[in-house]
Formats: sequence, structure tokens, C-alpha cells
Amino acid sequence: MAECIFCRIAAGEIPTDFLFQDEGLVAFNDINPQAPVHFLVVPKKHIPDLSSLAAADLELLPAVQQVIVKLTRELGIDRGGFRVVVNTGDDGGQTVPHLHFHVLGGRFLNWPPG
Ligand code: AMP
Ligand code: ZN
Repeated sequence: MAECIFCRIAAGEIPTDFLFQDEGLVAFNDINPQAPVHFLVVPKKHIPDLSSLAAADLELLPAVQQVIVKLTRELGIDRGGFRVVVNTGDDGGQTVPHLHFHVLGGRFLNWPPG
């Protein structure tokens, strides 16, 4: 989608330092980090939210898991621990309507979230 910010980032239309990219996924630091480490794993395909993930796209999920494991190791938060968040819809606090996985770490993360 031409007007979608994450589609534009994934397509390379907005200069972004990718932590990871392959044919299906990109990962990059959140512009407004909520923890010392806060990056996003984003499917290149425009999928609006977790509820919209079609059966044909489910193979994205193990790929996302592998990227998360790789990057949390590289960024040194695998041992201390981290949190993966998928805000979904209005009550979930989703602000960008393109499926993305937040990965936060590098400090103790309180629970429950606000
Ligand atoms: P959510 O509120 O769960 O939809 O998360 C959207 C996230 O995208 C927020 O944490 C924003 O800070 C982040 N974000 C928005 N625009 C950009 C951008 N251009 N580059 C990196 N992160 C962004
Ligand atoms: Zn999009």
C-alpha cells in the first residue's frame, strides 16, 4: 500500500538501517524506543493486523520467531530476557495498521502493561 509507512520502509522508499532483511521480513529499530533495545519485526507483505493473518501467510510466524532469536542474541538481550508485543486494534493500542512485532529488552519490563 503506497500510503502505508511500513510498506514504504520495507520497500526501501524511506532510508532505514535494517537490523535484518530477507525476502519476507525486515527488522529495524523503533523510532520512539520504550526500552534500551526496541526493534520491530515487520512482514514485507501488507497485512493489517494479527487478526488478518491468512492461512497462506502462517509461514511468516516461524520466520519471525527465528529473526527474533537471532537479533536478541546479537543485541545481547537473550539471556536477560525480552518481551514480544503485537498491539492489535484500537484497544490493543495499535497505531500503524501493518502487522509488526515489537521486541523490547535491556531493562526490567513491568507487568501488566498500562
Ligand atoms: P503500534 O503502536 O503497536 O502500532 O506500533 C507502531 C510503532 O511504530 C510505534 O512504536 C512507533 O514508534 C513506530 N514507528 C512509527 N513510525 C516509525 C518509523 N518511521 N520508523 C520506526 N518506527 C516507527
Ligand atoms: Zn503496509
